[in-house]
Amino acid sequence: MTTITSKGYAREWHLVRRPSAQASVDDLALVEARIPELGPGQVLVRNTHLSVDPYMRGRMDDRPSYIPPFPLNAPLEGAAVGVVVESRADGIEPGQVVEHFLGLREATVTDASGVVPIDTGELPAEVYLGVLGATGLTAWLGVTQVASVRPGDTVFVTGAAGAVGSVAGQIARLRGAERVIGSAGSAAKVRHLVDDLGFDAAFDHHDGAAGEHLAQAAPDGIDVVFDNVGGAQLDAAIARLRVGARLALCGMASQYDGREPYGLRNLYELVTKRATARGFLVSDHLDQMPAFRAEVGSWVRSGEIRHRQTVLDGIERVPEALLGLLHSGASTIGKAVVRLQEPA
Ligand code: NAP
Repeated sequence: MTTITSKGYAREWHLVRRPSAQASVDDLALVEARIPELGPGQVLVRNTHLSVDPYMRGRMDDRPSYIPPFPLNAPLEGAAVGVVVESRADGIEPGQVVEHFLGLREATVTDASGVVPIDTGELPAEVYLGVLGATGLTAWLGVTQVASVRPGDTVFVTGAAGAVGSVAGQIARLRGAERVIGSAGSAAKVRHLVDDLGFDAAFDHHDGAAGEHLAQAAPDGIDVVFDNVGGAQLDAAIARLRVGARLALCGMASQYDGREPYGLRNLYELVTKRATARGFLVSDHLDQMPAFRAEVGSWVRSGEIRHRQTVLDGIERVPEALLGLLHSGASTIGKAVVRLQEPA
């Protein structure tokens, strides 16, 4: 298929039908589209890395939510980083690396206001999709402002080997948590949490009841839950809260992709433990990106926060990368990123 430099075409992913229950590769199509001429003030960006994220599954359905559904037969948007290859905008030169939200395509023409230059002097561009991007900001907000992790806390992170969870656990530790426990969906992910990221304990949630693992890992109870998956793991965590516990409700990955909602059984524990459970959305707090990048960026550069990406090569692999996040136990560790080839 033609790529962006050869004949002025680029490939882009479209949603071509809405999933009836679980999303499938047949809901998506890779379409070749002509790259438009640049207008005044516009830039052409060749994307190098695309972010795939669980929230994209919600946008495949046509229902009211905090973000509009993906339109059918139109390029899908999402976070991406790329290189400016043509510019008719003052102050943005070809070669500048930028981040933007017009991803899931090889190239895009956009007003210069739609891109943000990023500095790749010390860290590679794809870091701005993960630990220093919206997923890292989500982790930082949840730990520091929603759950307000304090020195001495015992913190439990679900989905802890994922993009948000892996950063949340490490920030909790750096903010003084005494004990950080994580759950994940495979033995390799559990090893990664303990051996590479310094979690005190971790368990595979497929391997017996979460409540039993938590009884062992947190015998004195849990002060903070950072929840990415919901369902039975959240229920088990609620059953082990300490008085005054805080729950940062970040996402419910176990409930996406056409699954029946899980009915929590232990909610009365929130009453008896005088606990606070609060949902939050990163999109309400994008103004905090600079403060977040200042604090977490220094931890990333010093190596105090470790970060990992699972990189899939080629735009053809977007569906595989996305659908992999909607099922537990896939091999994705850290941030899932699709890397695009340099044009020939
Ligand atoms: P991620 O954790 O890298 O990927 C999703 C993970 O969820 C999967 O790898 C899998 O991990 C787990 N999962 C999927 N289906 C599951 C199931 N049926 N049961 C149990 N676990 C399941 O994704 P992420 O980008 O870091 O996002 C994590 C969560 O944060 C998601 O719920 C996402 O929607 C949410 N989020 C919220 C905000 C916000 O503003 N509130 C922003 C970004 C992300 P295992 O294989 O380890 O089980």
